Amino acid sequence: MEKLEAQPGISRRDAMKMLTTGSAAGLLGLFGSPLARAEKRATPSYASGMAPIKIKSVKAIPTAPEGANLVIVKVETTEPGLYGIGCATFTQRALAVVTAVDNYLNDFCVGKDVDNIEDMWQSAYVSSYWRNGPVLNNALSGLDEALWDIKGKRANMPLYQLLGGKCRIAVDSYAHASGPTPEAIADNVQKYMSQGFRHVRIQQGGYGGVGTMEIKPDFKEAGFGKDSDSFSDQHTYLKRVPKMFEVVRQRCGEDVELLHDIHELVEPMDAINLIKRLEPYNPYWIEDPFSPENIGWLKHLRANTTVPIAFSELFNNINEFRGPMVDQLIDYIRIHISQIGGITPAMKVARLGEWFNVKTAWHGPGDTSPVGHAANGHIDLAVWNFGIQESHFWSDKAQEVFSGCPTFKNGYMYINEAPGLGVDINEKEAAKYPVGTRSKWTVRKNDGTILRP
Ligand code: MG
Repeated sequence: MEKLEAQPGISRRDAMKMLTTGSAAGLLGLFGSPLARAEKRATPSYASGMAPIKIKSVKAIPTAPEGANLVIVKVETTEPGLYGIGCATFTQRALAVVTAVDNYLNDFCVGKDVDNIEDMWQSAYVSSYWRNGPVLNNALSGLDEALWDIKGKRANMPLYQLLGGKCRIAVDSYAHASGPTPEAIADNVQKYMSQGFRHVRIQQGGYGGVGTMEIKPDFKEAGFGKDSDSFSDQHTYLKRVPKMFEVVRQRCGEDVELLHDIHELVEPMDAINLIKRLEPYNPYWIEDPFSPENIGWLKHLRANTTVPIAFSELFNNINEFRGPMVDQLIDYIRIHISQIGGITPAMKVARLGEWFNVKTAWHGPGDTSPVGHAANGHIDLAVWNFGIQESHFWSDKAQEVFSGCPTFKNGYMYINEAPGLGVDINEKEAAKYPVGTRSKWTVRKNDGTILRP
């Protein structure tokens, strides 16, 4: 109002009258001259260059340079040379994602503006009517991350800048130490400590001890299931884990943070008892004690132990993680970002976690592509409630397919600072490594009963 009264010859009362009656002449008299000045102002060069650009094509690029199926989505635009890539890796059903991208998303996206990522996400999300499953969410993630990549390239900034800039110097990460015996695991922990890692996850054999069980399972003797089916004896596993922690703590000391993944493979009450027995070893976290079907057990776990819990690797629906976060039943969010639809929903989950002091710990093994790892890293840098990042060290073969992979130094992950996500794909190299169709998640008990991961 001070501005209105500053106009020569206009009192405060006159100015209010003009505004409330909407007098066109009065308004023109009041605002004509500042508006005219605004209209005359030229767009500064630093804000130009954002002319509308359309999507020309959306396609999936499946590749498996390290054996794990990866799916990348490439979005090409009407601007020559401008494209983006995103991670759409659902490693167990890679070809289903390829179909969803090539046969449906391409048709849905061609001709649309590359700029409006939120609108694209919302419209693509409901375009199938039935939604929110792992195949369609991964396809959507590939599109979403590729559009963020394009936006970063257009802005000439690494993605984390568009998400608010850095909250930290780099991305603190954890390494994986496994082995057939606790002693071998302790050797591996010491190797990572000597490389500067402050956090190491410890596992004896595969998840649930798969591959290291001394018992020959009865279901194999009986010829039940397939030869390739895995076996986990829950009793053996539950006995071994405290021993593994004891040996590693004795050998490696108190300074290293130790993590462990139950991977849902035991009964809920057994998981609670196991975690209580691990308290003397001060775990940094215990991961996924329950399958998504058993999240009701989280409140019983919380009531019985203060060991931090990482959870939600298998979640893909907000209704699964909203309650545990809001009720502060978990400490770390383990979501696989492409599984929930990409960077756009992951940022919303991260921001929700900030209000409840639940920290991010995005899933990041070898069945997340380097593009997905870069997406993890950009968010890790930009959100306040970052916790820790799972690491993967890319082989030479993978780096021939993907340039700009994240790197590690002193336990920190560093993302490539090039505009956008900072990772590119060589399609000719990618084609050398076709994806497979084997499903590895058939784990049985001694009597042949299927265990849910
Ligand atoms: Mg896990």
